[in-house]
Amino acid sequence: MSIGPKETTEAIALYTRSLDCVHCGLCLPTCPTYRETGRESSSPRGRIYLARGVAEGKLALSDAVAEEMYLCLGCRACETACPSGVRFGSLLEQMRAEVERVGLRRGPAKRIESFLLRHVVPHPRRLRAAISVVRAIQAVRLDALALRLAPAGLRERIALAPRVPHARDRAPLPRLVRAHGERRGRVGFFVGCIMPELFGDVNHATVRVLARNGFDVVVAEGQGCCGALHAHAGDRETAKRLAARNVAAFAAAGVDVVISNAAGCGAALREVGEWLPATGDVLARRVRDVSEFLDAEGLRPPPTPFPRRVCYDDPCHLLHGQQVEAAPRRLLRQIPGLVLVAHDDAAACCGAAGIYNLTHPEMSRAVLARKMRSLASADPDVIATGNPGCMMQLRAGVVEHGLRAEVLHPVTLMDRAYGGGRSVGEPPYL
Ligand code: SF4
Ligand code: SF4
Repeated sequence: MSIGPKETTEAIALYTRSLDCVHCGLCLPTCPTYRETGRESSSPRGRIYLARGVAEGKLALSDAVAEEMYLCLGCRACETACPSGVRFGSLLEQMRAEVERVGLRRGPAKRIESFLLRHVVPHPRRLRAAISVVRAIQAVRLDALALRLAPAGLRERIALAPRVPHARDRAPLPRLVRAHGERRGRVGFFVGCIMPELFGDVNHATVRVLARNGFDVVVAEGQGCCGALHAHAGDRETAKRLAARNVAAFAAAGVDVVISNAAGCGAALREVGEWLPATGDVLARRVRDVSEFLDAEGLRPPPTPFPRRVCYDDPCHLLHGQQVEAAPRRLLRQIPGLVLVAHDDAAACCGAAGIYNLTHPEMSRAVLARKMRSLASADPDVIATGNPGCMMQLRAGVVEHGLRAEVLHPVTLMDRAYGGGRSVGEPPYL
């Protein structure tokens, strides 16, 4: 099947992007799917070659080409390694959008994915209701029963489901949290879609840490899902619609900085200018990861010791998508008593990649196994990482591979070192 590309602006952009590749192969050793398969077609260079062939009309957009585009984790390690500045993430999104456009992905799993991404994830009330159902199932241990009875392939996917936290941690954040002590500024906070439901404690900790560092925190009304999962799944129209909602919400909030604590969301928000050329640049320029922001502003010394050995594991969309590497490590080193322990391959993908661990469980588990081996050698008390998907994947990896470590967001460690705080809705907030 050919996409008839030469006439379309999209195909010209795809072709132009592919021309940046000089075939040097420096990206190959960093690519998780190449490391697992050894196949050129499953490497960044191979995928660029396939994309160029399709754009030139020399290669049909077949099921095999589509599968290589979806076997890719979208980790963007190849972008960091590339001396030619190939923007692989954009190229991949564009290829996946073409795959969707010509209808190569089909079947019940695809229909469920589309339904959830379009009709549940971007709608906070529906998402909350769905996650409350999961919590009820977990409360009566039906998930444990399902785990025992399910066939092998399904069992692995059920095992990835995180425990839904207590309602206290899912309580909404106030619209404004005032700075503690001397005021240093005012920031907006990006809440996310999954974060308030599954990692509400991390959102609360982030707001507390920002307030303790002297920042008023504005939780802009009208914000919502960043659209990253949609863009990665080839649904650019929904991603653009969601991005437009966030552009409007943060413009109305009148903040100069927008803080994200989820690497995947932060990377997507920083690309809003590409999705919405006329309006997105302003928001894209204002986005900062919480670790990057606190590092740049200077962290107020946390008073409470946290005497643990901590391995920091880079989320791909923080390291490769936002080029934030040193800041979280510098912040963690400022916590009294904390010992930062290096482990091999901290920069390598953990295999989570959005919903990749559900769509490609075998490759995801192989990539995770490599990561867990290196973490097991370092034997930390805590694995720190700043992305919800990575936290879920690493928690599943800790259980499967028998590690003793707790998996936490870096901001949770900072919050504990400041003494934590009471829940939102129970004043005083700090
Ligand atoms: S994004 Fe990651 S998995 Fe995909 S080609 Fe690049 S390095 Fe490989
Ligand atoms: S490193 Fe860059 S230029 Fe070299 S093969 Fe990979 S994508 Fe192409």
